Amino acid sequence: MPEGPEIRKAADYVEKAVVGREVLDVFFAFEHLQDYEEVLKGRHILRIDTKGKAMLTRFDNGYTVYSHNQLYGKWYTRNAYNYPKTNRQLRFAIHNEKKSALLYSASDIEVLRDEEVEDHPFISKVGPDILSEEVTKDQLVERFQDKRFYRRKWTSLLLDQAFIGGIGNYLRSEILFVAGIHPDLRPMDCTAEQLDKAAQASIDLMWQSYQHKGITNDLELAEKLKAEGAKRRDYRHWVFNRDGKACRIDGTEIVKIQAGSRRCYYCPTCQSK
Ligand SMILES: [Zn+2]
Repeated sequence: MPEGPEIRKAADYVEKAVVGREVLDVFFAFEHLQDYEEVLKGRHILRIDTKGKAMLTRFDNGYTVYSHNQLYGKWYTRNAYNYPKTNRQLRFAIHNEKKSALLYSASDIEVLRDEEVEDHPFISKVGPDILSEEVTKDQLVERFQDKRFYRRKWTSLLLDQAFIGGIGNYLRSEILFVAGIHPDLRPMDCTAEQLDKAAQASIDLMWQSYQHKGITNDLELAEKLKAEGAKRRDYRHWVFNRDGKACRIDGTEIVKIQAGSRRCYYCPTCQSK
């Protein structure tokens, strides 16, 4: 499943294809949305916002198209009216003179008035989105200490979109490793320094992954390993997908566990209890 950095990247591509050009045509597959095709035609798109794993396409007439990719949704951008070869179903399309932005397979699409967006059931629950809002380290530390979150395990918190929007499974393992936090712990078990590191790592790894094609490992080290012929899966992460391999810091064997029915990886010595 794509995580925040991949969603933001997809939003960037769509933004590049649609912002600054008059919308010539809009298509919705769902009948209950089809009346909006005329409402959105001829308008301009101001920007594409992301909130966790949702995308908000902001039109200049007070309307926003909300879409959530869930597991299967996928955006394509093509030259105008060119469609990819795919067995997926086209659900939402925006066409202009030069480009078409095409959303396939997503079933969760709604048209909202701008003022309704913040009360939307998903948007109103999702936590801060590090990649599209200004979120500081101190705000996150405060959030870690909030009574809604303080007593819950990190492994469940970091996958909860109400905690921080856009963190998914690989980022969960990577953030805990960089912060030196054992996956069994809760914020209340951590030192101030660990909370600080977890906040900084959440911000840094989200941005690094977004800017460097999903690489969460130390960038210099990743570059060096790549130059030595390592495959992407062998240089991409600190611990994720690396069970049985040596920790990049101290050589301890990386362990894989199940946490919240998703796989989680950690170094038993760098992340001791
Ligand atoms: Zn280690």
